[in-house]
Amino acid sequence: MTIQWFPGHMAKARNQVQEKLKLVDIVLEIVDARIPESSRNPMMDEIIADKPRLLVLNKADLADKKQTAAWLDYYQKHDLPAIAIDAQHKSRLPQIEKTVRQILATKITRQQAKGLKIVKLRAMCIGIPNVGKSTVLNRLVQKNIAKTGNKPGVTKNQQWLKVSDSFEVLDTPGILWPKFEDPDTGMKLALLGSIKDSIFHADDVALFGLDLLRQRYQAQLQQTYHLQAADFERDNAGLLLTLTKKNGFKDDYDQFSEKMINDLRKGRFGGVTLDVIPTPTSETEVPTDD
Ligand code: GDP
Repeated sequence: MTIQWFPGHMAKARNQVQEKLKLVDIVLEIVDARIPESSRNPMMDEIIADKPRLLVLNKADLADKKQTAAWLDYYQKHDLPAIAIDAQHKSRLPQIEKTVRQILATKITRQQAKGLKIVKLRAMCIGIPNVGKSTVLNRLVQKNIAKTGNKPGVTKNQQWLKVSDSFEVLDTPGILWPKFEDPDTGMKLALLGSIKDSIFHADDVALFGLDLLRQRYQAQLQQTYHLQAADFERDNAGLLLTLTKKNGFKDDYDQFSEKMINDLRKGRFGGVTLDVIPTPTSETEVPTDD
């Protein structure tokens, strides 16, 4: 799907999501585990406001496991409940419902105290394009595809999908625009396919990716492309040309760039995480007594 975001589109997307938010108890904010911050919508906090939220780091199979653990720790420290999943290969995603029940425990207890035997919880998936919203939805409902129909207070064409007797999800995910403001974020999104390929030149995106891989995953880059240590003496552009030749593309570095981007998207360098956890600034540090 091609999505071009203009101010009008952004406002429409935000309004649609905000309308649907009224119908749910919790938001499943889906992000790409390889770029957990860059794949978040910049206005998500403002849009969701006080609605409970579970941050779902999807595509964890393609991310650096140590980094995913560190990101989960980071979010926990920032009081944002988060889990990591792999929606493509896992047939069931039981952690989602389990964690949702933990987050909404107070609501459940309150309703049970009123005499309700089954407290039905409702959620919706939200995220930018390509993070795996539809895949997560499909995995969540699996064989329970039977729609639960319209309910009072629910817009006529609003459908709920049954995950279990006490958990339902909205049938359509909320799509929000990615971040464009920061050039590095834009490049990471292009690299992993959340921004239309034609917005950027493949060689610019590949050079950006090559630089990140050199900095963070040089051994994996070397192994995947059978590079010699001496090849790393070249600058990024030089290395891109070396790789283009080595891979049989002569001097067509555009074509090699596309291959490299695809290799990265498919996880051929092993698990990689491209976002770096922010280091605490002096403002957030706890002052100590002298
Ligand atoms: P959406 O645009 O957010 O709805 O994303 P989709 O659900 O269409 O997924 C985008 C692409 O990512 C598809 O090719 C999926 O098969 C793939 N995908 C989704 N989840 C995962 C995952 O956990 N791991 C891997 N490796 N691929 C995934």
